[in-house]
Amino acid sequence: MPTCKRSLQIALLIAIPTFIGVATSAQKLIPPPSIQKSWSQDYEPFRIAGNLYYVGTYDLACYLITTPKGHILINTGLAESAPMIRSHVEALGFKFADISILLATHAHYDHVGGMAAIKKMTGAKMMINEYDAPVLADGGNSDYIFGGKGSTFLPVKTDSLLHEHDTVRLGDMQIAVLHHPGHTKGACSFLFDVKDESRSYRVLIANMPTILDETRLSGMPGYPDVGKDYGNTLKAMKNISFDIWLSSHASQFGLQRKRKPGDSYHPETFIDQPGYDAAIDDLQKAYLKRLDQK
Ligand SMILES: [Zn+2]
Repeated sequence: MPTCKRSLQIALLIAIPTFIGVATSAQKLIPPPSIQKSWSQDYEPFRIAGNLYYVGTYDLACYLITTPKGHILINTGLAESAPMIRSHVEALGFKFADISILLATHAHYDHVGGMAAIKKMTGAKMMINEYDAPVLADGGNSDYIFGGKGSTFLPVKTDSLLHEHDTVRLGDMQIAVLHHPGHTKGACSFLFDVKDESRSYRVLIANMPTILDETRLSGMPGYPDVGKDYGNTLKAMKNISFDIWLSSHASQFGLQRKRKPGDSYHPETFIDQPGYDAAIDDLQKAYLKRLDQK
């Protein structure tokens, strides 16, 4: 019917610009709250242990786990670092397009900023904890601290939600997902075995439970249980057995102190239970101090 057709045309005329407007504003990013120079500074990629490689920047750690069935990339650094990560993967002799799974320790702009671009370049599947998936999907705008003002990174749709004690499998790799909430609601650490010619290593990529200045442990409007979650995470992190300790920031596990550019393959460099224990102990003290400051 003509009237019907006409009203449909009018509806479309109204709807199309509105849709375009929404799509455009969804891509508009606000500047992240803070950025450090070391986050985008280059650092040579290297083999950590077995089929695990460091492909991140000077301070923002990104890890590549290779398998004959495809590769896994954990974290991306800032958006601008995506081409650098790609060149690191290729410099190690691997194809960027062979990355088939993307993981993240938590959905903050300094660890997932390049995720949208890398997902597009590789076609890999994004897997993230169920509680960080909404934050990843709106570019950080629903983060309980940084959110509410707009997106700080390009949004990414999750293909597969991860839950506490899930296992990510690819080829012969099995990666245990440990939910360590607090820093974000869906923050996770990863625990897995790698092996080389001489031995196998249990690797912990720990999301260290650092507390941002804006956090109130008595409860935040977007995260009432934040204090309780930090407490449980600290408790859980004291009971993990592993050989190699790594984390979201290179500075957290002392990469620059432990390894110099050009150093040859030496996984033992990263065996550091005392260093991990001391770091968790410091975080526990910081937590208790902040609890008192209610
Ligand atoms: Zn963070």
